[in-house]
Amino acid sequence: MKLRKAFKFRLDVNAEQQARLRVLCGHARFVWNQALARCNEAYATEGEYVPRYESMSKWITAWKREEDKAFLTEAYTDNLQQKLKDLDSAWRRYFDPKLKADRPCFKKKGRSRDSVRFVNFNKYCQLNGRRVKLPAGIGWCKFRKSRDITGLIKNCTLSFSQGHWWISYQAEQDITPPAHPAPDHWVGIDVGIAQLATLSDGSSIAAINSFRQHEQALARAQRQLSRKVRFSSNWHKAKARVQRLQGRIANVRQDYLHKTSTTLCQNHAMLVIEDLQVKNMSASAKGSVESPGKHVRAKSGLNTSILDQGWGEFRRQLEYKSLWMGGEVLAVPAHHTSQTCPECGKVSPLNRLTQSAFVCIDCGYENNADVVGGLNILARGIEIRERAGRRPDRL
Ligand SMILES: [Zn+2]
Repeated sequence: MKLRKAFKFRLDVNAEQQARLRVLCGHARFVWNQALARCNEAYATEGEYVPRYESMSKWITAWKREEDKAFLTEAYTDNLQQKLKDLDSAWRRYFDPKLKADRPCFKKKGRSRDSVRFVNFNKYCQLNGRRVKLPAGIGWCKFRKSRDITGLIKNCTLSFSQGHWWISYQAEQDITPPAHPAPDHWVGIDVGIAQLATLSDGSSIAAINSFRQHEQALARAQRQLSRKVRFSSNWHKAKARVQRLQGRIANVRQDYLHKTSTTLCQNHAMLVIEDLQVKNMSASAKGSVESPGKHVRAKSGLNTSILDQGWGEFRRQLEYKSLWMGGEVLAVPAHHTSQTCPECGKVSPLNRLTQSAFVCIDCGYENNADVVGGLNILARGIEIRERAGRRPDRL
């Protein structure tokens, strides 16, 4: 089985390299915005259609001949092509009825995450210990190698965030997944707001409150930033402070998700989850009529990059880690998992008179509402697998 894995490190660049990287990112951003404008035009006039990558890539050649875009001749063409590929997949995600991702939007200087990707790593780049040689006039850079890179590096992405440059290598390796140590351990996972997740075995995983610890500091830094004159040197300093804090929050979150997902995958061969749309998951902070969100005020002020690392990221980690360990993640339809009685099967909103307690109106079955969710999700997973002729001997 071919597996792609990313290895991300902090990159140390000198002033000259930094200047070059900013120019490369600027070119890439320019091409993204130009292409997006043309896509938007096509979308408005031709309905649910935008040009695909194959047509977009031809625009680059044409733009280089235009007088006002002549600076693109100094750009690194691979970077530009990769940006257009990213734009193409952003549109695919937008049109995908299952993902319903946000529509691609224009990138603003200093506001959007700047990045450029170098493909054909073995041909154009070179790795030597803690140093990497990059094309496009960047040359050798040091990176803070905190772990070994395994597999064959296919490409690398350089990005600027939290006030620093980063390099992320994408490497591919061929692995044979081992047999899972606990093949009969199946579990249903109900994701929530008060808890990150509740399991069908009755245990729960606490919510990530990393942002709360830093909330005040972040609010203060953001207030300071708003008082500075835009693009002044104090503004840049204040902005870096905000980004550092946001980065710290994101790191704490990511670390917590990794620890949690590893434990879950080690202990259970089958993880049954609800097939929620990623968009709905990140929107869940607002809650729904059925279950209003509990930390709406606190969460609504948060940077989207922090919210992005919630349940969508959790599911992604569960999926790839299960794959490594010989386990599996099974996504089941998410209708009425909170309103169905696990004992008699009665479906009614009246089973949930309070947020936390489940009491069946027919048979009187009582349990914690989130645990009921987990049990129903697990039951759906077992049902699907029984139809396919496989079920666990023991739970
Ligand atoms: Zn019942």
